[in-house]
Amino acid sequence: MHHFSYHGSKLHCEDVDLNEIAGLYGSPTYVYSAGTITDNVTRLQASLAGLDLQICYAMKANSSLALLRLFAQLGTGFDLVSGGEIRRVLAAGADVRSSVFAGVGKTEAEIELALQSGVFSFHVESEPELIRINHVAGRLGVVAPIAIRINPDVDAKTHAKITTGKSDNKFGIPMSVAAAAYDAAAKLPHIRVAGVQMHIGSQLTSIGPFREAVEKVVPFVAALQKTHDLAYFSIGGGIGIIYEDALASGAEQWWEKFSDEDRPLTPESYGAVLGPLLQPLGLKILLEPGRFLVGNAGVMLSRVEYLKRGAGKNFLVVDAAMNDLARPAMYDSYHEIVPLERDSSRPAMVTDVVGPICETGDCFAKNRKLQTVGEGEVVAFMSAGAYGYTMASNYNTRGRPAEVLVKGSAFELIHPRESFEQQIAGESIPAFLT
Ligand SMILES: *Cc1c(COP(=O)(O)O)cnc(C)c1O
Repeated sequence: MHHFSYHGSKLHCEDVDLNEIAGLYGSPTYVYSAGTITDNVTRLQASLAGLDLQICYAMKANSSLALLRLFAQLGTGFDLVSGGEIRRVLAAGADVRSSVFAGVGKTEAEIELALQSGVFSFHVESEPELIRINHVAGRLGVVAPIAIRINPDVDAKTHAKITTGKSDNKFGIPMSVAAAAYDAAAKLPHIRVAGVQMHIGSQLTSIGPFREAVEKVVPFVAALQKTHDLAYFSIGGGIGIIYEDALASGAEQWWEKFSDEDRPLTPESYGAVLGPLLQPLGLKILLEPGRFLVGNAGVMLSRVEYLKRGAGKNFLVVDAAMNDLARPAMYDSYHEIVPLERDSSRPAMVTDVVGPICETGDCFAKNRKLQTVGEGEVVAFMSAGAYGYTMASNYNTRGRPAEVLVKGSAFELIHPRESFEQQIAGESIPAFLT
């Protein structure tokens, strides 16, 4: 469920006409729905209601300060992957005491910042990292809580660039050596073994790989509990969302078109399958969803610059590009593209939807069937709330888009469009060229 729908002919985010936002703030602009994020958190919590659950929102999916504040108000912690993300959480007025610090390459400075900020736990990816955390904690005179990331060698069957739980990925340590790694960790004076972690990949749309991974790791956790005083088990993130038919998926009756076997992964089915497997451990369970919480809660608005009618091929050239929304170029991903103004009297057209950047990869959709739209009209790229703005860049000296947050009939610009001056602010010409 999400809160983007047509009210009459006009696409709204909650109670706000998206054309009004495009008119006020220009394009491209990301628009987020606070109500959708709130519902996503609530649904996921409800699906595992019997457990002692802590959601740590994987903020790399969308780290806007306004969203971080919203998540803090909803009671989630954060899955952090850099010192910058720790500082963002603090800048949003939240704290990191229920957050975890993940990532394969934590620097000494980042470890120090995490310890000083009172992070709930470190998710450790290697033995050298464990040694380093022990060293930094010793220098600060504190003890660092840790969980080791177990690589369960399960194929998440998702895009190769976001599969992380196979033994040939760089992530985690194999189950076969995990027990020895825990025993070694427990001997370090400034380390406290607190939990076990796994995360097998992103954008999983079926329950199978989650079930397989949890079934593999739970016996390990249960055995480890006998020798170590564990507080929690983190099963990572990775819950996928519906990109195709994204607009329809906001509708109440949408589920009915699927048979039981084909029904896409939902928080309810996720909880129903995993809850009973996790319950017997009696541990706190951490979830680290990113995409699921924000993906369908955001759209990117973009204006049509030209409709270029080629020989047997149309190109809709929009003012957003791969620097604003990188997912199609990077992961071949699909975003539904819909007009802000629906007009059923217009014919459909089949077109490629492309950005202005001089790269073939700057293409959002190929041979897409859309309502005919013309110059100056605005379209929405659906399900752009996750890995959208956070992956935006200045490629082609394009300022990054504006961001707006909607709640009910209220909305506010939470991040203005990046100016040219901001882009060049840190640059200088060296003396030997003057
Ligand atoms: C990226 C990541 C997540 C979040 O993944 P989503 O697919 O966005 O839910 C969670 N945990 C870890 C360790 C990650 O690297």
